[in-house]
Amino acid sequence: MSRVLIVGAGLTGSLCACLLRRELQNKVHIEVWDKARGSGGRMSTSRPPDASSHPADLGAQYITATPFYAQSHRSFYTELLNAGILKPLDCLIEGLQHKADNRNYITPLGMSSVVKHFLSQSGANLCFDCHVTGLYRRGASWEVQRKQGDSKTFDAVVLTMPVPQILQLQGDLGNVLSVQQRSHLDTVVYSSRFAVALFFSPDVVLNFPWAARYVSDNQCIRYIAVEPRKSNTDAPGVGPSLVVHTSVPFGVEHLEQEKDAIQPIILQELHKLLPGLPQPISIKCQKWRYSQVQTSVPDCPGHMTVLERPLLVCGGDAFSHSNFDGCVESALSVLRVLTASL
Ligand SMILES: Cc1cc2nc3c(=O)[nH]c(=O)nc-3n(C[C@H](O)[C@H](O)[C@H](O)COP(=O)(O)OP(=O)(O)OC[C@H]3O[C@@H](n4cnc5c(N)ncnc54)[C@H](O)[C@@H]3O)c2cc1C
Repeated sequence: MSRVLIVGAGLTGSLCACLLRRELQNKVHIEVWDKARGSGGRMSTSRPPDASSHPADLGAQYITATPFYAQSHRSFYTELLNAGILKPLDCLIEGLQHKADNRNYITPLGMSSVVKHFLSQSGANLCFDCHVTGLYRRGASWEVQRKQGDSKTFDAVVLTMPVPQILQLQGDLGNVLSVQQRSHLDTVVYSSRFAVALFFSPDVVLNFPWAARYVSDNQCIRYIAVEPRKSNTDAPGVGPSLVVHTSVPFGVEHLEQEKDAIQPIILQELHKLLPGLPQPISIKCQKWRYSQVQTSVPDCPGHMTVLERPLLVCGGDAFSHSNFDGCVESALSVLRVLTASL
């Protein structure tokens, strides 16, 4: 039985694991490792410490299917709609540049539910708090080292984290990358931004005319969303939450500063935009150093096969484009390589 390690429990890694299981069933042993405490990656949903407020999506907010992807990824959309993971967006997102033929979807259970859905179908061994630090070639296998000092051996490894984090890995990766592959990986550029989630007590009512809003006249804040308005769910007895995304220029300007130093600046700007906003019961600030891909790997191939034996493949939105369909494209492309090789 082939042993496959998928590094990253974001959408690309989780979907890879799910599709590989569906394709090869019990002929493969799959492990998914992520350095975070849970799954989701940049599709993460944050829960307040005491569960008295609605969860908030800190990264991706909604899913937009162009006519092309609505058709070519129809099976994925149908599966998620049937499972109640996706619902058509029918609230007001002020400033959303909606194209008539596009379909927008929200996630009533939070964005991470999309990732969790596929992960739960994968039958993979999951390891969270599992930070991969190095890859070492050992004959026909890869020895994969974790931050805690131990290592494990696999027949094939798939890396789905942002490209700069791939390039930080120690060991033999640098030796097996060709000059052209290295230069392609070096071209990848990400935007950066901060996200802040404010969680309110159940007695608070946030009565804005919109569920989310793009802000165009503030240098710091680009986007605000209110839950459960955006996800359009009933949440009796639970307080609302509000998410703020900063603009990319603000994110880039303050990228090397601690998020604790930046949070008060964002909150000050938020109060200018929404005067009278009640006091939250808790706040979470997230720095997205690698937010959305601005320049992907040339020609968007979906994956990069770094080495055929032992197999080492890179995938993720940097190899396609930075949204749901980009991750699906990449996962399908990685799957083709895995099934041909195993
Ligand atoms: C603020 C923001 C808003 C967005 N808005 C939207 C939107 O509205 N709609 C949309 O479709 N998309 C949106 N996106 C883009 C979308 O979230 C991404 O394209 C998608 O989540 C990328 O998934 P991925 O699996 O390729 O990568 P990731 O989600 O980044 O997954 C990679 C995983 O690898 C893990 N990892 C990293 N290094 C290591 C290591 N050394 N060892 C172990 N694990 C490691 C990380 O913890 C992470 O979980 C947004 C993204 C952000 C940040």
